[in-house]
Amino acid sequence: MSRRFLRTVEDFTCHKCGARVKGDGYTDHCPRCLWSLHTDVNPGDRAAGCLGPMEPVGVEQRRGRFVIVHRCLRCGAVRRVRSAVGDSIDAILRVADGAARRGPPGRGPGRLRRRREQ
Ligand SMILES: [Zn+2]
Ligand SMILES: [Zn+2]
Repeated sequence: MSRRFLRTVEDFTCHKCGARVKGDGYTDHCPRCLWSLHTDVNPGDRAAGCLGPMEPVGVEQRRGRFVIVHRCLRCGAVRRVRSAVGDSIDAILRVADGAARRGPPGRGPGRLRRRREQ
């Protein structure tokens, strides 16, 4: 498994909710709404070139930490990132709640209905 971590420190403005996000080199998602952008192939390398908005579609728990599941609205890629310390717990719970109501990704109705806020 070849995983590369390149530390890229950059601040960005959330495309979704407009929050100013202070980059620490690892956080690539918005701590307020958890949306992200499809930029990385390996975490931090900014090599995907897709730049599609990545919607938080689920939350998993691993060793007591939250892992946010993102899906790119443009190309459909799914990515998992660990939540950062400053992430909004409310937003995490909202995503987890929504995912539970929707069922497992890729199944059942509701997938095609979710075209909104574009
Ligand atoms: Zn945001
Ligand atoms: Zn993409």
